[in-house]
Amino acid sequence: MTAADWHARAAAITPRTELFIDGGFQPAASGERFDTVDPATGRVIAAVARGDAEDVDRAVRAARRAFERGDWSLAAPAERKRVLLAVADGIRSHADELALLDSIDGGKLITATRQVDVPGSAAILQWYAEATDKLYGQVAPVASPDLAIITREPLGVVGAVVPWNYPLETAIWKIAPALAAGNSVVLKPAEESPLSALRLAEIASAAGLPDGVLNVVTGFGVEAGAALGLHPDVDVIAFTGSTAVGSRFLEYASRGSIRPVWLECGGKSANLVFDDADDLDAVADAVIGGIFGCAGQVCSANSRLLVQRGILDGLTERVLERAAALTVGDPLDEATRMGPLVSARQRDRVAAHIASGRDEAELLLGGDALPGDGFFLAPTVFGSVPDDARIMREEIFGPVLAIAAFDTEEEAVARANASEYGLAASVFTSSIRRAQRVAPALRAGTVSVNTVDALDVTTPFGGVKQSGFGRDLSLHALDNYTALKTTWFAGA
Ligand code: NAD
Repeated sequence: MTAADWHARAAAITPRTELFIDGGFQPAASGERFDTVDPATGRVIAAVARGDAEDVDRAVRAARRAFERGDWSLAAPAERKRVLLAVADGIRSHADELALLDSIDGGKLITATRQVDVPGSAAILQWYAEATDKLYGQVAPVASPDLAIITREPLGVVGAVVPWNYPLETAIWKIAPALAAGNSVVLKPAEESPLSALRLAEIASAAGLPDGVLNVVTGFGVEAGAALGLHPDVDVIAFTGSTAVGSRFLEYASRGSIRPVWLECGGKSANLVFDDADDLDAVADAVIGGIFGCAGQVCSANSRLLVQRGILDGLTERVLERAAALTVGDPLDEATRMGPLVSARQRDRVAAHIASGRDEAELLLGGDALPGDGFFLAPTVFGSVPDDARIMREEIFGPVLAIAAFDTEEEAVARANASEYGLAASVFTSSIRRAQRVAPALRAGTVSVNTVDALDVTTPFGGVKQSGFGRDLSLHALDNYTALKTTWFAGA
């Protein structure tokens, strides 16, 4: 489809802009709204309801009522499966609309939202739906004739707070296992990208999800997000976002009634390329995808490239060639390879990192904002970056790659681990023995060998250290949203 076709379709969408509570759209109690902006043009797309503590309270009450009503929490697993499969189908049948919403609201490439985010979201929901009626409890090996059974029970009301880089998909990462387990959810999408969550809730309701089981409160983090974190009747918080805000949720939980808080936070993933790596062209392609995908706004972005000295020049040359050739521009043009940053604030934050990088390292490519009203930055590459440089230590969350050389395997591992974060890492080598030594030595939730950012619904995703704890995806995610219950029957 041409960019003009996508733009025409985008213009035909009338986005939902009210809060979704108890099965219907409602304005914020205050009547306040905030603008959501297209980062590719700087234009306002819509004024969205600005939920605050009163709205969060309304949503939590609706979620609690739904949970206690039992038409979802106590429904037969096969019935929950049926409805969640219908929601997945609903996502698929509105795929273009949902893809466009995330593309205009978050500046994401239409090729990515249409081919990855939206089908991926439907597939994840389908996977958890299908798991729902295939999970068994356990019988504990206690002395006969007593009988002790171990079952999983839903926790109750889940507060889910998500960022803007994968608006639909990160919401689904939380919602799918939470709903599959029988919980009710109050979702707070990021203020930069609230539109797809509202449409998702409407689609889910039309597919048969009972009223109050999925609620969406749009608004600012310091208002709606904090109110959800502090609400005494929320049973568990599932958060994806920055480490600074994640730690706020721990603080909120310590102030009132305690609850589990699952945090998926920032990252500064290292990519280790050894001189026995097979094919430097393929490695360079992976490096480019690992840092410039989603304009670098990816928690597991491979923002640190550590290269064994003998191949440093060869790999750097290949990376620069590819980065310089990336087409930066309109996210609705299928030829575009990198879109804008999500907001002027985010672009300025990344630009400040680039400015400090100019003093700390050698700028090899890019570094500048692109002219126009959108929030674009050129793909940027720094070389000879010292370990203590800010651009080597801090999460930038933008299209900025820091390259440095290493000599030995031990040094590479030590430097990769010298980070406060531990979300992901990559290793390129043709030696299975080296991979077997290095992968377990890296402190990261995921280590990808001869690829970057390996991820699937079947594998857990999450970090260690300041990248958080708890895991999204896979059957392990159900642990976040269920409590184990022991029921003991005394023998006769
Ligand atoms: P953010 O932490 O600023 O915001 C995330 C969410 O928290 C948003 O919904 C926001 O409204 C809310 N929030 C903000 N301040 C709050 C407060 N004081 N109280 C309660 N809620 C608040 O993050 P962001 O800028 O939206 O996203 C970028 C960050 O997210 C990066 O650090 C990135 O690494 C991280 N991220 C992590 C993962 C992961 O899976 N580990 C995935 C994507 C993004």
